[in-house]
Amino acid sequence: MSGAIAAQVLVVGGGPGGYVAAIRAGQLGLDTVLVEADRLGGTCLIRGCIPSKALIHAAGRFAEASDGGVLGIAAAPKLDLKKTIAWKDGIVDRLNSGVAGLLAHAKVPVIEGWATFSDAKTCTVETKDGPVSVTAEHVILAAGSEATPLPVLPFGGNIISSTEALNIDALPRHLAVVGAGYVGLELGIAFRKLGAEVTVIEAADRILPRYDAALTRPVRRWLERNKVTLHLGAKVTGLDGDGRLAIATAKGETLALAADKILVTVGRRPRTEGWGLEAMGLDMVGPFVKVDDQCRTAMRNVWAIGDLVGEPMLAHKASAQGAMVAEIIAGHRRRFDSASVAAICFTEPEIVVAGLSPDEAKAAGEDIITGQFPLSANGRALTLEAGEDGGFVRVVARKGDQRVLGIQAVGRGIAELAGESAHALAMGATLEDIAGTIHVHPTLGETVGEAALLALGRGLHI
Ligand SMILES: Cc1cc2nc3c(=O)[nH]c(=O)nc-3n(C[C@H](O)[C@H](O)[C@H](O)COP(=O)(O)OP(=O)(O)OC[C@H]3O[C@@H](n4cnc5c(N)ncnc54)[C@H](O)[C@@H]3O)c2cc1C
Repeated sequence: MSGAIAAQVLVVGGGPGGYVAAIRAGQLGLDTVLVEADRLGGTCLIRGCIPSKALIHAAGRFAEASDGGVLGIAAAPKLDLKKTIAWKDGIVDRLNSGVAGLLAHAKVPVIEGWATFSDAKTCTVETKDGPVSVTAEHVILAAGSEATPLPVLPFGGNIISSTEALNIDALPRHLAVVGAGYVGLELGIAFRKLGAEVTVIEAADRILPRYDAALTRPVRRWLERNKVTLHLGAKVTGLDGDGRLAIATAKGETLALAADKILVTVGRRPRTEGWGLEAMGLDMVGPFVKVDDQCRTAMRNVWAIGDLVGEPMLAHKASAQGAMVAEIIAGHRRRFDSASVAAICFTEPEIVVAGLSPDEAKAAGEDIITGQFPLSANGRALTLEAGEDGGFVRVVARKGDQRVLGIQAVGRGIAELAGESAHALAMGATLEDIAGTIHVHPTLGETVGEAALLALGRGLHI
């Protein structure tokens, strides 16, 4: 493709924000083009959510096979990591071509190449066949995010980001993980399960510092039980002369750690450089493009979505914003409500958060009641070996009208409760709505009903 193209809608970025925006715009009959420089699917499908969950699943299978003693199962599994990575790549390829098929079905042409804007509505895409100039009535920016490097540990060689960790061809003997947010811990735990020695270094005084402390305790216990070394309140200062990782510990000591891979997961930053954002005259908020609750930027008919516009940097938020913007362009009345955007840490055990934690609700001036139900009192949890690690489900509600403000949970296999939690918040459910829902037995979902009953003061199974 070369030359000049004019479209109603130009979407830049084929991640879960951009490709969903483009599909929805196409479905609504808008003449739409999508520009993607890399592979369709973006961070999520190619180097984020999907490949990480594939590796986490494989690591879980390996660990379960290695350690079924208590169930009376004994096996000695062998790891063929190249095959594991090939399996993961197969899933990525399948989803990547699936997205291409969906875009074609929605009649959205894809221009492969890097887009650079000369003004807010015009960009040039460097394709393999030459430059293509695209102008559009509406522009949807979905450029996503990239791993934040540490100045003292620039990426390269043995210093890797999550992208390289997900494509590793040999199991590191010793993996150092710098940053105990969800990406670092998900991958650190997976590599530990596969047999690597793992050390985690975190500047804050606890793991998963963005999460409610009570939810993170079972994860911390797992790390300790499984001999993951934790340095909390510690800072990496670089590599020493022997290539070892230099750490200033909380106690003021200096450590030198010999790790054969150093995974740096200190966060992600919006991709705001290299594509002419500065020529577009948009307002910013911190490092992010500033948008309102309809994802409008400061420039008329220029929209921005997903990781580019701020936290939470999550795939489903990006997709929801993408679909919404396409519908607004097509004339629908929509607004983005972040209240029901749930998040999961696929750690061991898993954490689910939706809506407000008790502290957040109080900080927002709410008078609240809570109900917290332990997984150890749920039959299904016990059959899944999920009852012994301190897991629980908690419901937070407004005292006055008993409207549910938040649901949080930690426990093995608890990720599946994210759907029910988001649904309850999106529907504006009250405690009675949840307590009155007949949850299927035996499932982990029963714990949500029990937590609501506890908040109402009439718990049944505790
Ligand atoms: C290891 C890891 C695990 C994760 N796990 C989860 C998870 O379990 N659940 C979850 O919800 N989220 C997860 N995320 C986050 C999730 O991947 C992102 O929130 C999501 O991909 C953001 O979508 P997006 O469309 O905004 O941007 P991206 O997915 O980053 O896509 C942006 C796309 O735009 C393209 N692009 C940018 N600029 C240009 C340009 N100028 N021209 C052409 N193309 C351009 C890029 O090549 C890229 O493909 C994870 C992330 C990582 C790194």
